[in-house]
Amino acid sequence: MSDVLTTMAYERARSVPEALTLLAEGGEDTRPISGGQSLVPMMNLGLAAPAFLVDVSGIPALRTIGVDGGHLVVGAAVTHAELTTDPLVAEHAPLLAMAAAHIGSRRIRNRGTIGGSVSHGDAAAELPVSCHVLEADYRVESLGRQEWRPAREFSLGYYQTDLRSGELVTAVRIPLRPRHGWGFHEYSRRAGDFALASAAAGVALDGDRIRSAAVAVTGAADRPLRLEAVERRLTGVTAAEAERVMSGLAAALDVADDPYTKGADRARLIEAMAVRAVRDACADARREQA
Ligand SMILES: Cc1cc2nc3c(=O)[nH]c(=O)nc-3n(C[C@H](O)[C@H](O)[C@H](O)COP(=O)(O)OP(=O)(O)OC[C@H]3O[C@@H](n4cnc5c(N)ncnc54)[C@H](O)[C@@H]3O)c2cc1C
Repeated sequence: MSDVLTTMAYERARSVPEALTLLAEGGEDTRPISGGQSLVPMMNLGLAAPAFLVDVSGIPALRTIGVDGGHLVVGAAVTHAELTTDPLVAEHAPLLAMAAAHIGSRRIRNRGTIGGSVSHGDAAAELPVSCHVLEADYRVESLGRQEWRPAREFSLGYYQTDLRSGELVTAVRIPLRPRHGWGFHEYSRRAGDFALASAAAGVALDGDRIRSAAVAVTGAADRPLRLEAVERRLTGVTAAEAERVMSGLAAALDVADDPYTKGADRARLIEAMAVRAVRDACADARREQA
């Protein structure tokens, strides 16, 4: 056992301005903490050792879900469990609810937050890949500054995101896209494990033909991967032809072996999940048209 004792300060912020001030004053060794479901395990493993934690989970402004100017806006401290039950999420971004239902166990979902998930940057996480497909933006604030950053550019690699010291994700906004259909599928070895492969899909139909498709997967790279070539192939085909045009996807993916899974096996899983997600999205879009 280590005989080195470390001390850590902890403050529970009551508002976004207070959190931003604490983060700015604390400097490089200060980290926001929200649900603690990724940061605390990292600290337990010695992979993170912040000197000062600013708890943002109880800030009322970060706990809201609303519709504003053509977007669904989800506060950063909304939990995964809340995403699965909120009526506005169900109506305007059901993909988020589908994806959140796959995260860990109920205990994790009750504490973990959307802001924490997108900031943490786990390449296997369900919410960032869904935010790619939803064309979401993240509101990033620091003292005296606020901007929206696209989800597509936010993940920079394993556990790396486009966030600097002093910055806080305060909301996720998702454009409202009526008459779209959505699908999410994943494969994990045991229920509650991180997925070996997952896929999120969004589809708009023109009659029975796919007018536009968005498909992104995890398991293929160090961040969510948008399958633009697949999206182009899907555009204009009928829903019934979707599986055929997606076959061969696995061969086109360059997935590295890891100690537990061969890259080729994982690529086949990714293809299977993507096919199922698109199939569900087409069925959902048909229901939306009816
Ligand atoms: C056993 C177990 C199983 C899990 N399984 C899954 C799974 O299957 N899928 C999955 O996606 N996740 C899984 N998780 C992780 C879980 O989803 C976390 O809730 C999520 O990754 C982080 O959210 P959090 O609110 O707990 O963040 P925290 O742990 O509080 O923080 C995570 C990181 O984000 C930063 N951060 C937090 N909030 C903000 C913010 N608002 N702005 C800027 N930075 C912020 C922190 O400084 C830290 O670096 C699992 C966790 C455990 C312990």
